[in-house]
Amino acid sequence: MRRVAIRLPTKPAVLIAARRLAVHPGIGSGDVSNRELVVLGTASQAPTRTRNHNGYFLRWDGEGLLFDPGEGTQRQMVFAGVTASQITRICITHFHGDHCLGLPGVLQRMALDHVPQIVEACYPAENREVFMRLRHAALFRDVLNLAERPVAGGMVLQASSFRMEAQPLSHSVPTFGYRLVEPDGRRMLPEKLAARGVTGPDVGRLQREGFLMAGDGLVTVEQVSEPRRGQRFAFIMDTRLCDAAFLLADQADMLVCESTFADAEAALAREYGHLTAGQAGRIAAESRVRLLVLTHFSQRYDPDDGQRLTAEAGMAFGGDVVMAHDLNRIPVPPRRPSAAR
Ligand SMILES: [Zn+2]
Ligand SMILES: [Zn+2]
Repeated sequence: MRRVAIRLPTKPAVLIAARRLAVHPGIGSGDVSNRELVVLGTASQAPTRTRNHNGYFLRWDGEGLLFDPGEGTQRQMVFAGVTASQITRICITHFHGDHCLGLPGVLQRMALDHVPQIVEACYPAENREVFMRLRHAALFRDVLNLAERPVAGGMVLQASSFRMEAQPLSHSVPTFGYRLVEPDGRRMLPEKLAARGVTGPDVGRLQREGFLMAGDGLVTVEQVSEPRRGQRFAFIMDTRLCDAAFLLADQADMLVCESTFADAEAALAREYGHLTAGQAGRIAAESRVRLLVLTHFSQRYDPDDGQRLTAEAGMAFGGDVVMAHDLNRIPVPPRRPSAAR
């Protein structure tokens, strides 16, 4: 594991807020978090020698959500140690090539590997014909269990431990950002369970039913647990600043946000429907995000520009900022203390 500076401290306020964040460099790195972002690619429009087209794999407990598989995603998955069978959902923000040209390869690989589970595929409903072209771009033995979820905004899908919502963004073609919301729950407290004589399978029963008889009498789940904040993940790709971006990012533990341009190119960003690094920082700040992951960089920037871009985001945002590099593994921050949000 390597520790990297996440922001260039350029002025006192940023200096005070500057923190260091553990980012796994990728291949062969050590421990595995239950919730982490595996960065498969970070390039907008055109890949470079150091950046593949977009591609993001979110491990979330037993789920694997693949966002925006750009060209080359299948091979980046091999480098990152992500298998086709780990994919449980696919979410596409829009059908520009850097966000979807890898879909045919990934789908074919899922068929080749006989992925048994039903995989839900979310994409802008208006462009279903593009999805169908990509779905059938090549000839292969099609044994996929794909469930299409065309997106028109609002609730997209409901999983056992989270819900996925989408909001329309402001780009040149139909584009949706996504956010994953885990409902608030309760954390069981072992010492209180023990004091009340609740052990073994009764713990699960108490969680399910809310109360049971044990030891000295009635035990309620409130007596032996504390509130636990659900976690949130937001994914915002190609867009101008718009209300939906702030809505999606609201109180996200991790926000993955495009930052195609540096602030000096703000006019260009607006014209082509993109964000600058500073605007990504503003979204994170106003939405009270914890960790901002910058990505989707114009080919005009090389890796040495990373400190500049993170510094621009850091001017607006006092939390953690990290510039994504291909094959990084970035843990979702640990849960907040129960009272915080
Ligand atoms: Zn793009
Ligand atoms: Zn685009």
